[in-house]
Amino acid sequence: MKTIKDDTDVLVVLILSGAMSLGMVPFLIIRYLSREWLIFALDAGAFFATLTLFLYVYVTRKTAVARWLVAILCVVVMFLTVHIKGIENLMWIYPGLAALFFLLIPNVALAIGSVFLLIVTIMVWPQVTPAVLAQFLVTTISLLLFCFAFSYRARKQQQELSSLATVDALTGAENRRALEEALLSVTGRLSRYPEQRASVLMIDLDEFKTINDTFGHGVGDAVLKSFSETIQSRIRASDGLYRFGGEEFVVIAEHTSLKEAHHLAETLRLAIEQSSVHDGVNLTISLGVAEYSPGESSYQWLGRADAALYRAKQTGRNVSCTA
Ligand code: GH3
Ligand code: MG
Ligand code: MG
Repeated sequence: MKTIKDDTDVLVVLILSGAMSLGMVPFLIIRYLSREWLIFALDAGAFFATLTLFLYVYVTRKTAVARWLVAILCVVVMFLTVHIKGIENLMWIYPGLAALFFLLIPNVALAIGSVFLLIVTIMVWPQVTPAVLAQFLVTTISLLLFCFAFSYRARKQQQELSSLATVDALTGAENRRALEEALLSVTGRLSRYPEQRASVLMIDLDEFKTINDTFGHGVGDAVLKSFSETIQSRIRASDGLYRFGGEEFVVIAEHTSLKEAHHLAETLRLAIEQSSVHDGVNLTISLGVAEYSPGESSYQWLGRADAALYRAKQTGRNVSCTA
């Protein structure tokens, strides 16, 4: 799922790598004109490195590695600026430190920023008055703490939003949208690695309308919740439980053949049969199981599981059938 955060990550890396790359151009010209070939070669290396990074992110929109590389470049450029050009260039530290929080997770950015600040403080210590040093430390440490608080909050909000967008509020299972994303990702992977296997279990609660009609919707909701908890406690952490809609759910079991998935289906069916949800409610489920066949779409895959589920219902419910 593409998010605002992904877009921002791409933009930040593009701006920083683009600016660094462009910023090298005047230096390249100066070194060329003054025939300082060693520094010219170093500058040219930095120019092509940042340009390559820029083009890579522009084309692929992938930032996982690029964010680290740009963060390392930021630290190196900040360090060299202060080391070579002296303390009158100390101000460059501020945007450099802030950039770390756009590139890395808050804790890592804070740790790298703090270590860097310590090194720079040791470097500039002998060259400035105690008053200037105190000012420098108070302003940079405030910047670090504000940036940390801000990016920590943004990260938390982003996690909450992403959970709101993908988790079903009543049952805690993942929702239909997350199911479609997951199916796309699994079928994509299986078409690249046909030797791997995966199966889906389509689950439908039996006679759920009768439970609602007899005990009320409140009990119906509690039954759905309890069903979801029981299933989630029985499947592997890597297997997802998704609410397909109403009282229908899907389990995606990766690295699982049809035979193994059918075994899992029977385990789940018995677990629900033996669970006690509410006085007088004897909940059972029916399941349809299908293993992915290379070349089929996720809809065809789910469709075969649904057809198997239909047969399970026809057979008399509280049954699991394979496609
Ligand atoms: P079958 O064994 O053939 O599946 O019968 P069924 O009664 O389970 O199936 P049917 O499709 O007739 O009824 C499903 C019911 O599930 C109808 C609907 O009101 C109820 N339902 C769907 N979503 C919810 C929900 O979030 N909460 C509650 N309490 N009921 C829901
Ligand atoms: Mg039903
Ligand atoms: Mg149904």
